[in-house]
Amino acid sequence: MNSIPACQKCHSTYTYEDGEMFICPECAHEWPKITSDNMEGGETLERVVKDANGNRLQDGDTVTVIKDLKVKGSSLVVKVGTKVKNIRLVDGDHDIDCKIEGIGPMKLKSQFVKRG
Ligand SMILES: [Zn+2]
Repeated sequence: MNSIPACQKCHSTYTYEDGEMFICPECAHEWPKITSDNMEGGETLERVVKDANGNRLQDGDTVTVIKDLKVKGSSLVVKVGTKVKNIRLVDGDHDIDCKIEGIGPMKLKSQFVKRG
């Protein structure tokens, strides 16, 4: 019933399981099994991005900038109160990918915005 995932490193499908680990015979990569049984309701791997007020943000949300933000590598500043529509959540230090009118595509930190 358990299907064995392809190798995370070389994507070989000749992987096998050994105790609590999956093992790839092709590149010798080993990684721990994570099954739905030991994920707490699937919540643990879910990424939650929150705004300055602790409200959860989602793709497509509109947010308002709460702090003047300098745009890296330019003299532009995203002013307090700037509305940013249709954000996209991404991984990383700057966890919001968006496009700001008059400035263009940029990345923001969720702690410097509020939803709405
Ligand atoms: Zn491999």
